[in-house]
Amino acid sequence: MSQTKILLDESEIPTHWYNVVADMPNPPAPPLGPDGNPIGPDALAAIFPPGLIEQEVSAERWIEIPEEVREIYQLWRPSPLYRAHRLEAALGTPAKIYYKHEGVSPAGSHKPNTAVAQAYYNKQVGIKRLATETGAGQWGSSLALVGKMFGIEVRVYMVKVSYEQKPFRRSMMHTWGAEVFASPSEQTESGRKILAEDPDSPGSLGIAISEAVEEAASRKDTNYALGSVLNHVLLHQTVIGQEAKKQFEIVGDYPDMVFASCGGGSNFGGAAFPFFADKAAGKEVRLVAVEPASCPTLTRGHYAYDFGDAVGHTPLMKMYTLGHDFVPPGIHAGGLRYHGDSALVSQLYNEGLIEAMAVHQLGTFEAGVQFAQTEGIIPAPESSHAIRACIDEALKCKETGEAKTLFFNLSGHGHFDMASYDKYFSGELVDYEYPAEAIDKALHHLPKVAMA
Ligand SMILES: *Cc1c(COP(=O)(O)O)cnc(C)c1O
Repeated sequence: MSQTKILLDESEIPTHWYNVVADMPNPPAPPLGPDGNPIGPDALAAIFPPGLIEQEVSAERWIEIPEEVREIYQLWRPSPLYRAHRLEAALGTPAKIYYKHEGVSPAGSHKPNTAVAQAYYNKQVGIKRLATETGAGQWGSSLALVGKMFGIEVRVYMVKVSYEQKPFRRSMMHTWGAEVFASPSEQTESGRKILAEDPDSPGSLGIAISEAVEEAASRKDTNYALGSVLNHVLLHQTVIGQEAKKQFEIVGDYPDMVFASCGGGSNFGGAAFPFFADKAAGKEVRLVAVEPASCPTLTRGHYAYDFGDAVGHTPLMKMYTLGHDFVPPGIHAGGLRYHGDSALVSQLYNEGLIEAMAVHQLGTFEAGVQFAQTEGIIPAPESSHAIRACIDEALKCKETGEAKTLFFNLSGHGHFDMASYDKYFSGELVDYEYPAEAIDKALHHLPKVAMA
């Protein structure tokens, strides 16, 4: 009987994070200030601690993981790599399918991997409070979880539509001791401004980021924490891909293709970048970011300088973007709604070194249900994007008879997303393609400096 769970000992938790910048053929496009000139690391000092700023701009290949962070990782890492025997059998594919299960963390997703590190570096410099945003609640709950571990107060601006539709993520954050506000809120200038224009605004990640950044910038004891997009966040997530590589070694296999769902890019970067190191060294491996057709940032967005938030508080980052004022269609149930994408992921995609594809929501839920009914684990709707893409590739293999090795990151479980599953079962969900006019329109809202 061939192995189903491929496990590592706690002593094999990676000792270093892997920085993909060291293997990129070109240096990353620098973030720009409001005047259109590259910003220095100091520009970030109002809201981030020095340890994270160093990582944000580092080109070192390996960055040591502090002992205290590794000790907390021991609560759920190394995460298991599974061979999806039962899914393979159901598909009748000659392909071998593997997935890494990041849903084993206390918050149920990959996000605590960076939350621990971010809290650690903030604690080091005496920060007492962290402000952040959350969409569906995975990031907010991950930061809430580690806030308690480091004695840091956590304040979460939660996108209003999720705040109302996902009460149990809110309860999780409360259980771990965080404060949660529906965004746009009356707590900040940014929130008040948006509410004045649109009292019924459902909120967006971009708006919630504006609120959290404003709060962090205006208080000395408070910093900001972001759950995706930034270089240091992707860096922290590379424990996923590094462990996976060791686990593949144990079974003497190696993926032909790596799939990961992509919102802001940390899940993709975390799973795929350690394999990119091999690709940069000449190995053949295809790395595929999977996004929703209703928020098709990489596949249909503009590659340009844009703000990371809705109001324009952040530096400009060169990335694929649907425009910083993008408000995702309310009809979309599966997360991954950020208007932009990691600058690193964007640049690698622009240079043709990684791939991206968009999938529709009905097919995504169908794949999630098929996975749950074969492998048992109910996947987060975000993760189901990667499952959809992986199943489609496995079905292609069935046609061609190729026995490819396919790997996807199961970024989280879906236990708090059952309302979305119910909507799928009751036929309330439909496929929705983000309209081309909206994408064209966004081009006119890009900051002027982007055109320089
Ligand atoms: C946040 C999240 C994602 C998307 O991660 P990004 O790093 O923003 O691309 C995927 N899956 C789950 C379960 C998540 O919580």
